[in-house]
Amino acid sequence: MGIPQALTPLLDPFIAVSLKLWGDKFPRKNNVSAINEHMARRVKGISCGKCGGDLKQTRAGSKRATCANGHKWQLLK
Ligand SMILES: [Zn+2]
Repeated sequence: MGIPQALTPLLDPFIAVSLKLWGDKFPRKNNVSAINEHMARRVKGISCGKCGGDLKQTRAGSKRATCANGHKWQLLK
């Protein structure tokens, strides 16, 4: 077996801290909701540049939006 039993109590807090730091650096869920909020604001203020229709975010977490005619726009980078 890889890790001696005596070491696991020491490793657990280390792993917990590592995971927390990792989560702070790459907050995936938060990122999706931040994008959604951003997009909700963007699509309200913008209409389709081709047909003038309302834009909708393609899906949750996406930075693109489409109008009813299927024109696609990248609204965030
Ligand atoms: Zn359009």
